[in-house]
Amino acid sequence: RFAYVNGRYVRHKEAAVHIEDRGYQFADGIYEVCEVRHGALVDTTRHLDRLDRSLSELQIASPMPRASLVAVMREVVRRNRVRDGMIYIQVSRGVAPRDHLFPPQGTPPALVITARSSSPAKAAKTAEAGVNVITLPDNRWERVDIKSVSLLPNVLAKEAARKAGAKEAWFVDSDGYVTEGSSTNAWIVTAEGALVTRPAEHGILRGITRTAVLDLARREGITVEERPFTVEEAYRAREAFITAATTLVMPVVRIDDHAIGNGKPGSIATELRQRFHEVVETMPV
Ligand code: PMP
Repeated sequence: RFAYVNGRYVRHKEAAVHIEDRGYQFADGIYEVCEVRHGALVDTTRHLDRLDRSLSELQIASPMPRASLVAVMREVVRRNRVRDGMIYIQVSRGVAPRDHLFPPQGTPPALVITARSSSPAKAAKTAEAGVNVITLPDNRWERVDIKSVSLLPNVLAKEAARKAGAKEAWFVDSDGYVTEGSSTNAWIVTAEGALVTRPAEHGILRGITRTAVLDLARREGITVEERPFTVEEAYRAREAFITAATTLVMPVVRIDDHAIGNGKPGSIATELRQRFHEVVETMPV
């Protein structure tokens, strides 16, 4: 078997993408699966129209003109001697050092095409008997408590933040409460000086930095309220900040069009940032 991988036809078992491919790291890519029947591609125009739409929605450049893409699809089908089966096309945003932000302009998208035979006789037999289904709550993808690589929404949010001249985007749930940032946890300090952050059971990743900051705050005698807060409350907060292993405690001075506090990093955020490493385990390399 053969696969097309970024301009080359390679043996299927040796076909590989780079570990920094954004599809691998962020699920930052799209795909199509088309039927191959009696040695012909089925419904290609509609599939490639949807592929174009998916690409444009994600602002991923087209990997090649449609005519070339079809030529490669045919070649993959031919090389794999597929008469009946399917063809798989995947395009990712390409290979770049890991960063939620889109890679620099001109980074070529990564393109993989494979084809596989299937048995029409077997499918016909299954169809004769029919199949069973079960029902499940549609939770695609609510499990943000799992540090999974399903990060496409986070990637798009981070890019939207950059476009708006911001460092981070805070997600807001349907009730107007802030959940967390695209790669950080979200915090505010109330007028009374209480630290507020969303409970980790509800729609956020339980940040390690978040846990450490909660420890630190309690040790410092700062009042901690683990509760959801709204965007409106955040606009009026005395301070705001974000936490992550990469940013540590990072003061936030503006949310949307609202200056936070006096528009400068707050004293609690600054103190927590300074004292952070007093409370965390460190292991010499
Ligand atoms: N939320 C999300 C969605 C993240 O990606 C991260 C960064 N891993 C965090 C929160 C912060 O977690 P931590 O403090 O463990 O880096």
